Amino acid sequence: MLVTRFAPSPTGYLHIGGLRTALYSYLWAKKNSGKFLLRIEDTDLKRNSKEAALAIEEAFRWTGLSHDGDITYQSERFDIYKKYIKQLLDEGKAYYCYMSQDERDALYEKQKANKERTKYDGRYRDFQGEVPSDIEPVVRIKAPLEGEISFKDGVKGEVKFDVKDALDDFVIARADGTPLYNFVVAVDDALMGVTEVIRGDDHLSNTPKQIVVYDALGFKIPKFYHVPMILNPSGKKLSKRDGAMDVMEYKKEGILPEALLNFLVRLGWSHGDQEIFSMSEMLELFDPNEINKSASAYNAEKLSWINAHYIKNLPTERLVEVLKEYELDLSRFEKKEQLIDLLRDRAKDINELKSMVNSIIIEPNEYDQKAVEKFLKDDALEILEAFNKELKSKGEVTLPEDFKEVANNFLEKRGLKLKHLAQPIRIAIVGSAVSPSVFDVLSIVGYKDVVKRIDNLISRGE
Ligand code: GLU
Repeated sequence: MLVTRFAPSPTGYLHIGGLRTALYSYLWAKKNSGKFLLRIEDTDLKRNSKEAALAIEEAFRWTGLSHDGDITYQSERFDIYKKYIKQLLDEGKAYYCYMSQDERDALYEKQKANKERTKYDGRYRDFQGEVPSDIEPVVRIKAPLEGEISFKDGVKGEVKFDVKDALDDFVIARADGTPLYNFVVAVDDALMGVTEVIRGDDHLSNTPKQIVVYDALGFKIPKFYHVPMILNPSGKKLSKRDGAMDVMEYKKEGILPEALLNFLVRLGWSHGDQEIFSMSEMLELFDPNEINKSASAYNAEKLSWINAHYIKNLPTERLVEVLKEYELDLSRFEKKEQLIDLLRDRAKDINELKSMVNSIIIEPNEYDQKAVEKFLKDDALEILEAFNKELKSKGEVTLPEDFKEVANNFLEKRGLKLKHLAQPIRIAIVGSAVSPSVFDVLSIVGYKDVVKRIDNLISRGE
């Protein structure tokens, strides 16, 4: 069975680069009826925090990328790592290294002076002498001393590392016994049955080290896909300002998870020139073997365009559900369908949609001063009052076309044009001169409230 995983270190929030590799791993597993696992890599007790782990889980919930089985926390697996470290020590594939800080500094200094790569020189590899009593040893794994480590990467193609340039006997456990990333990642991927690893290409140079661990423990090496970074539009590392922020910030900015995932799937992969992908299309079409070889540039306008597309096209129930997360509950609002359809084309994010909805459903408690000055002059208020009388005498009116008919008859009788009425009505109903089609708005607000809001404006003597 094909098994993928996402393995974030909880040192901070989940950012979009991480979410993208999570999405790719999710899609590839689901497409192949496999499993997508989530593992929190929290072995570095000093740098990791529970809050960060919770924030990552929250971001997962928001995006709807569901992982299979329980979340694995590496901090709960120290016994397992210890067991494998012991096994390697027992088999002579790893060893204790007693090099002191001073020794290390001297070694690196010498290498630098000779213009060599700084690396451990294997001095405790076959150490037989007396063990220094004042040093708590680290554990190093025996890496090959020469030759090549190569693998076929699904994105990069054939990747080769000359061990002389890329490796040394690296540390797999610190002096306090805690294991290190390149060791635990390989142990866990193997024990969790991960067959395909999709991750950022910042991990490419770690891969030969992990291969050393797989080989030493006799584990099968998974297939790797190293995904190029997301850069900013000028080709530099993505900064916070460009969009490298906590995934949940996107929610705060009114971005739909559907839009963010669609944006991310395209950031590094394409299918012809198609831009919009529903989740089922992503599942059908995505293939990590087609991931772009070069880095992709973050494009905020495109995200905004995709978001607007989803707001235009998602089913009303979904938007009602989303608005609830933004503390606007329309579930019992009778005309929600009509209301959302009226506004969805105008909103580019959910915050905008929410404020547009509120401007209609909540009675205004103040009126835009500029609109008042511009449109409520001369006899505008009298006209509005007369129109309200007409509405009152007519009795309940429901549909937009019925409001329109009342207005047209009224205007005709008085020899007036719609412009004499439309803006004053808007001010009365939504507090400003901007709203979608006025008769649609009247129908949504409902007869009783329309009459009341007009009365309110008039009684304020504006
Ligand atoms: N925990 C690593 C990180 O957050 C990723 C490990 C991996 O994907 O192999 O960068």
